Parts: sequence; C-alpha cells; structure tokens
Amino acid sequence: MARRIVIAIDGPSGSGKSTVGRRLAERLGYRYLDTGATYRVAALRAEELSIDIDDEDKLARVCSDMEILFVQDGNEIKTFCNGKDVSEAIRKPEISSLASEISTKKAVRDILVEMQRRMGAEGGVVAEGRDIGTVVFSGAELKFFLDATPEERGKRRFNELMEKGIRVSLEETIAEMRRRDQRDRRRELAPLRKAEDTLVIDSTHMTIDEVVEKMFKEARRRISQGGDC
Ligand code: C5P
Repeated sequence: MARRIVIAIDGPSGSGKSTVGRRLAERLGYRYLDTGATYRVAALRAEELSIDIDDEDKLARVCSDMEILFVQDGNEIKTFCNGKDVSEAIRKPEISSLASEISTKKAVRDILVEMQRRMGAEGGVVAEGRDIGTVVFSGAELKFFLDATPEERGKRRFNELMEKGIRVSLEETIAEMRRRDQRDRRRELAPLRKAEDTLVIDSTHMTIDEVVEKMFKEARRRISQGGDC
C-alpha cells in the first residue's frame, strides 16, 4: 500500500491555498486540514463571548473548550464548533481580521498547534496555513509555499466575498489583505516564512488546475520515492 504522507501548504491570504489544498487532498484521497479555520473559530468564540483579546488566560480557556470538527458535505467542507455549524460565520471580514490578531498570542497558538497536530497525526493529510512547514508539521514529507502578488490575491478574495453576497470594496479588500500579511509576516511567534525545504509556487499567472496538477505530480513523486525530503 502507498505510504500516506503529510503535505504542508503555506502562504499568504488569498494565494489560493484553500482551493488547491482541497482539490489536491481529493485527488490523493487524503484529508484536508484548514488550520486557518481553527484560528477563525477561536476569533468567533472570542467575539461571541466578548473576550478582551489581550486577556490571554481567558483566550486560552476559550480555545481549550472548543471542539472543532471538519465535516465533508457534498463538495464543501463544513466547520463545526461544539456541535454548531460555523462555516459561514467564520468567513466574515471582521472575523478574518480578529483571527489574524489573536493568532499572535502565544496561549492561543500553543493550544491550536497541538489540536492541529492531533488532527494530522495519522498522515494522509494536506494541511494548509502559515506555519505548517516551519512549526506544525516541520517534518512534513512535502512542503509548498504558495504565493501571488497582493493585487491578485486581493482581487481573488474580493470575488470570493462578492459571490457569497458579502459586500466590500476592492480597495479595502486589498488594503486589509496587506495589513493581515504584514501582521502574519512580522509577528514574533511562528511568522509566515518559507521553510528551507519548501517548493515555492507563484500562482499569479497560473490557473487553479495548473497549480493542483503541479502539486499532484510532486506528491506522486514523493510518495513513490519514500525516504527523506
Ligand atoms: O488562512 P486564513 O486566512 O483562514 O487564516 C486566518 C488567520 O489565521 C490568518 O490571517 C493568520 O493570521 C492566522 N493563521 C495562522 N497560522 C496558521 C493559519 C492561520 O496564524 N497556520
């Protein structure tokens, strides 16, 4: 039987990680792990409970009390927290921003990184985020860093939000993306950066299918090779 490896996909917001990650997982028959969703759920819970985000003890308690489940529903993957479907609520722009803020907190990262490791412990997983190849699964057999220009990423996010009926301006979406990028890259803990053994893919001028194809070929090669990265 083919060995079931861990595939890490890191990159900034809007680089296409979620779409390609999901498709790659599907083609390989792997599970898809959206680690950004765990930070989003924490942000949503903090908002619902009106937690002061500088109170790390309270944030830690909120994170410890979350039971997050990802459930395949047709073509979609739904996110549940403590039995409630939060898939739509966690995609709101204010939750994106709050997730990026609380992801700078050590207490939050410690708990969520452990949760993510448990979720991917058995292998056969495509995990996507900012620190997957550098921290969460630093020993992953295959690592990708997916990038694109801020303008292209802003446009993609804008279209996504419009499709969902969330009205925003393109300029504000690009500006918010740059703010989140800066926070993710400059933060002290687990900043967004390329792992040394990562394969960089710039998707600015590539279609989703092209990116998935490139990743799939690499994955097949790595799975059949065995051994080290
Ligand atoms: O990927 P997504 O945009 O859903 O992530 C929401 C936020 O969670 C990001 O802006 C980032 O600050 C944080 N995040 C993180 N580490 C991860 C995944 C997401 O800090 N592995």
